[in-house]
Amino acid sequence: MKYDMLLLRYGEITLKGKNRGRFENAVISHIRSVLKDFPKAKIRKEYGRLYVELNGEEVEPLIASLQKIFGLTSISPVVVSSTELDSILEASSAFIGQMDMEEEVTFKVHARRVWKAFPHSSHEMNHLVGAPLLKKYPLLKVSMKDPELTLNVEIREQGTYIFCQTIPAVGGFPRGSNGKAMLLLSGGIDSPVAGWSSMRRGLEVECVHFYSYPFTSRLAKEKVIELAKVLSGYAGEIKIHLVPFTEVQTSFTGIGQDNLIITLMRRSMLRIAELLAKREGALAIVTGDSLGQVASQTLPSMNVIGRATELPLLRPLIMMDKNEIIRISKEIGTYETSILPYEDCCTLFVPKSPTTNPNLRVVENVEASIEKLPELIQDAFERTETLVLTKDYVIGEEEEAGGVNEDWF
Ligand code: ATP
Ligand code: MG
Repeated sequence: MKYDMLLLRYGEITLKGKNRGRFENAVISHIRSVLKDFPKAKIRKEYGRLYVELNGEEVEPLIASLQKIFGLTSISPVVVSSTELDSILEASSAFIGQMDMEEEVTFKVHARRVWKAFPHSSHEMNHLVGAPLLKKYPLLKVSMKDPELTLNVEIREQGTYIFCQTIPAVGGFPRGSNGKAMLLLSGGIDSPVAGWSSMRRGLEVECVHFYSYPFTSRLAKEKVIELAKVLSGYAGEIKIHLVPFTEVQTSFTGIGQDNLIITLMRRSMLRIAELLAKREGALAIVTGDSLGQVASQTLPSMNVIGRATELPLLRPLIMMDKNEIIRISKEIGTYETSILPYEDCCTLFVPKSPTTNPNLRVVENVEASIEKLPELIQDAFERTETLVLTKDYVIGEEEEAGGVNEDWF
């Protein structure tokens, strides 16, 4: 099918007042960055609607890219005719003619006269457009109620827009329109999905990853960078902070509190993430926790862990089933990377029986007994290295550019 342009709809940003303009601008700037890959296409804003004129760009790949833009709810490919009855009839007929129908299709015309000076009413236009189509295409059967095919004919002064498809887009709030949060990104299935869900809600996300060289390998780091890269495809670019966690982590071993080790590690992760959040101007921490999934994600565990930070902890997956999380991770393109084998710093020292019900007082006492802990946390924060990733980032670039954490190698 040959189309002239795309009609883009946005849902939740039908907000009032100042926010509307701000949100619209955020969507437009995101669309603009996607259109860099489609140089002939042009964006146009008109009466609170957005259009992308194709100017010969291929429609399928463009739609696939636009579908991922947060804030957009649906996309319709449109044929434009001039606003004269004959042209509209001709264009409508050509539109239907291009569809390959093999069996009967229930059908109606839905005309909308937006430009009131047009001589025929919407109701008249339904008939004027519909009657010749039914005659010409015998497989079309009229049905007013729930037809399979609705031919929309929007009559505007500057042109008449003909379309029948409404392709869903990802929805949510525009990129970065709701502030910034730090995402604790491991190499697993959950945290990338939590990151994407946050981004869909309009959060700008910076990733924080804790590694424990030499217990975790260079491949584990590359895997996490790869995951962050996939996420950057939804944002344009994304920062990842790589935190050397070995010293903090090993301060918890050999103190006779093995069953608390995950609790202790998670609390320290939050403290370091909070330091990074303050430096970067982020107001929340996002994790991939899902209630009950593992020992550190029981309600008592989350309670004790969460008290290590004053920042709001956002857990987008908290009530989701694993199947649902896996489904999203496949859809957003992180699953294949997430399931590659790797060692996470947390899986290394997993005790035989991690506690599911830690006691806050006990945990605080253990922390207080490790005198150098605040210093180790500060040191890990200071030695953190930051990469800025885009979808075209070549893993290993940071090494050529002078090396991130030589101790990786
Ligand atoms: P995931 O699939 O995201 O790894 P998980 O089900 O394996 O989650 P855990 O390993 O218990 O769960 O981790 C819970 C959350 O803690 C993760 O979703 C992530 O937000 C954070 N986290 C765990 N390990 C790390 C790490 N090495 N660096 C950064 N964040 C981490
Ligand atoms: Mg994990």
